[in-house]
Amino acid sequence: MSIFYCDTCHTKFEAEGVKTDWVDRTYGPCTRWTALCPDCGEESQLAKTVHAHADGDDGCEGGSCSCGGSGCSSCGGC
Ligand SMILES: [Zn+2]
Repeated sequence: MSIFYCDTCHTKFEAEGVKTDWVDRTYGPCTRWTALCPDCGEESQLAKTVHAHADGDDGCEGGSCSCGGSGCSSCGGC
């Protein structure tokens, strides 16, 4: 279970989430987790307070996200 944040409801909720992997043309392999908000059904991303790559395996380096900057939800948009 992970903590997700719904931008529509501005609430956090806990869910299993769905893992999405893709290979970015510029940044290489990326991973992100999404889950559907239990209140509004919108796709939500991991809460930014949870640093998803605490295990350091998603390619973030020195605070500059190699997954595509603000588009990277797996690292909270670092
Ligand atoms: Zn919602």
